Amino acid sequence: MSTVYLNGKFIPIEDALIPVTDRGFLFGDGVYEVIPAYGGRLFRFSHHLQRLQNSLDGIRLDNPHSDSEWKTILNTVLEHNRELGGANNDQSVYLQVTRGSAAKRDHSFPENVIPTVFATSNAIADPDPVVTEQGVAAITLDDIRWQYCDIKAVTLLANVLLRQQAVDQNAAEAILIRNGLVIEGSSSNVFVIEEGNILTPAKGPQMLPGITRDLVLELAEQHRLPCRETDITEDSLRGADEIWITSSTREIIPVTVLDGKAVGRGSPGPLWKTMIEFYRTYKESVRNGTNE
Ligand code: PMP
Repeated sequence: MSTVYLNGKFIPIEDALIPVTDRGFLFGDGVYEVIPAYGGRLFRFSHHLQRLQNSLDGIRLDNPHSDSEWKTILNTVLEHNRELGGANNDQSVYLQVTRGSAAKRDHSFPENVIPTVFATSNAIADPDPVVTEQGVAAITLDDIRWQYCDIKAVTLLANVLLRQQAVDQNAAEAILIRNGLVIEGSSSNVFVIEEGNILTPAKGPQMLPGITRDLVLELAEQHRLPCRETDITEDSLRGADEIWITSSTREIIPVTVLDGKAVGRGSPGPLWKTMIEFYRTYKESVRNGTNE
């Protein structure tokens, strides 16, 4: 039985209940974060807290906690659930803040309402060796989402429907296209390798600024691999030597089949193999406390 944090208390998950009038439930009126913790240490924590702040600003909700309060809350959840982390003590934290619960269901913001704050942690496994040896399949779909995709909102119905279309076609991810350009995956960012260059779309309101994406760019620069933020057309995606998708829980995954056709040679490419080693080394440095 795992322990969660809900509105000031650390309690068993079964006892964590919210009123049906919660605006997260009624309107999807809230934001969230997912943060890995390796060896019990929160990964890129300050970056996640900054993105949380941006998301809260984006929905005009005050941050209910200071950075140090968040740190205490999340570390306490991780400690309570230590056994979920296995031998390495690797877990991921999920946190959610909603606009709280008001007596009357009304779209406009209620006054004097206390936000609902929830945090939990889950086991996080090392990437599946089949996935890292063979890569995954992805499909392309039209990006049907709204215009504030830089807000990490709990309102994920479009992403859910898009991902399910991928799953229905035995694919691991849907890569979303808007006006002929690659945007991101349904729950990941996208990289394309073209003639030795690592390319990814520039940030903007159309996509979530992924923490893993930023780290990949940082690692590429550090190791002097040519990388660039740029528009990627659907044609470039289809002609790419390699495609990667990135996210906090999936790390960096090579896409080896796109819409039923092989990407490059149809197996994880050489630049992915280089980058995943840099990523793993970085992960270890967080685990042993020399990096955040
Ligand atoms: N885009 C979307 C739509 C996402 O939901 C996510 C996270 N699951 C990402 C990108 C990747 O972000 P991060 O690297 O911070 O997990």
